Amino acid sequence: MGNVTQTAEAKRKSGPKGTRKSTLARMEKARELKIKGATTGEIAKALGVTRQRVLQMLRGPREVFNFVRGRAKSRCQQCSFELSNGNVYSPSGDYGDLARLEYLCDEHFALRYRERER
Ligand SMILES: [Zn+2]
Repeated sequence: MGNVTQTAEAKRKSGPKGTRKSTLARMEKARELKIKGATTGEIAKALGVTRQRVLQMLRGPREVFNFVRGRAKSRCQQCSFELSNGNVYSPSGDYGDLARLEYLCDEHFALRYRERER
């Protein structure tokens, strides 16, 4: 786990300054569209990025996704539904915050965001 934390931390700090805000804004937009039921392809088109990039925005860096999925044994942490392609929810929007990340199905991922808006 130490390695994953360090890698995520390094990645988080290494991004060029100035791009971070727009990246975060796009991440928020991607999540918003996803919650409304848009497919990865539709989100990619709306944001003008690749599908790969959309997946990365929704899941965080791959090593973080793999870690969170492994920890959850590939099951939604709310309903235990088995999924190989789940969502990683970060309450703070920070994927380096491993202890608070959750592996969720589409339904519970959307629910988390609705809870946050209240
Ligand atoms: Zn679920």
